[in-house]
Amino acid sequence: MFVPEGLYTKGCEARYQTKRLGVKHIMVSEGHPRYKSLTLRNKLVDGYEKGITSAHGLIAHGRGEAFDYLLGEQTSENALGATNVACAYLLTAHHPILSVNGNTAALASEEIAEFCAITDIPVEVNLFHRSAERVKRIADHLRSYGVANVLTGFDIIKLDHIASDRAKVDKQGIFKADVVFAPLEDGDRAQALTQLGKVVLTVDLNPLSRTAVTSTVTIVDEVTRAMKNLSGFAKHVEGQSDQDGLDTLKASFNNVQNLKASYVVMQERLRSLAL
Ligand code: ATP
Repeated sequence: MFVPEGLYTKGCEARYQTKRLGVKHIMVSEGHPRYKSLTLRNKLVDGYEKGITSAHGLIAHGRGEAFDYLLGEQTSENALGATNVACAYLLTAHHPILSVNGNTAALASEEIAEFCAITDIPVEVNLFHRSAERVKRIADHLRSYGVANVLTGFDIIKLDHIASDRAKVDKQGIFKADVVFAPLEDGDRAQALTQLGKVVLTVDLNPLSRTAVTSTVTIVDEVTRAMKNLSGFAKHVEGQSDQDGLDTLKASFNNVQNLKASYVVMQERLRSLAL
C-alpha cells in the first residue's frame, strides 16, 4: 500500500492521522517554495482532526488553491481595493457581524482575533454542516486565539430561502446585522442575505462563484491575506472620524467591475506564462 509521507510546518499539530498510519514525518523549512501553502493545508488538517473543519471543507480549499495559482498567490491591486471598501462598510455599519465557518476558523483565527480587537466586531459561528458540538469547538478555538465576542446561536431564528443549516442564525448576530462579512460563503446564503436587504461582504478566491457575483463586495483573495489587509486598513483609519471618506469609498465601488479586474489578472498571468 502506498502511504504518503506527512509534511509538517512550524506550529502545526496535525500528527494524529499520520501517526496512526505510521507515516514518516518531514519537517518543511520556511524556505520551501510551497511553505505557505503547506502551512495552510496543515492548519486545515489540524482543524479536521479537531472537529472544526468538515471533510467537505478540505475539498473546498482545493478549489480555492487552484484559483490562487492563477492569481500568482498574491493580493492583486483590485483585491486590496475591495478589502478597503469592505472595511469601510464594516466600520460604518450599525450592526456589523463576522460570520465564521470551519475553514475560516481553522485558517485564520489569529487574523480574525487581530481584526476583531481593532474593530470590536462580534463573530458568529455559522455552519453548513452544523452540530452543537462543532459550533462549540469552533467557538472555543476562536476564543483560544483571543476572539472575545463569539455568538454561537444561543437565540436562534431560521432565515427564509436557505435550504441548509446555514439558515440558522443568531437573533443578536446575523439576523440583526445590516452588514454581514462572510468569508468562504456559499452562493445560496449570499443570495438570501442580499435578498433580505443586508450588505454582504465576502472573501472568495473564485471570482466566478455564485457567492462572488451575488455579494455586495467580493474580495478575490486568500482569506488569511485578506484578513491581514483588513486589519491594516482598519488600523490606518483608526481614530479618524472621516465618515464621509468611508462613504465615498463605498459609493465608488462596483463589484462587477472589480470581479472583471480579477478575470483580467488571471488572464494576463496566463498570457505572460504562455509567451
Ligand atoms: P458558490 O456556491 O458560491 O458558487 P462554491 O460551491 O464553490 O461556491 P463552496 O463549496 O462553499 O462554494 O466553496 C467555498 C469557496 O471558497 C470556493 O469558491 C473557493 O474558491 C473558496 N476558497 C476556498 N479556500 C479559500 C481560501 N483559503 N481563501 C479564499 N477563498 C477560498
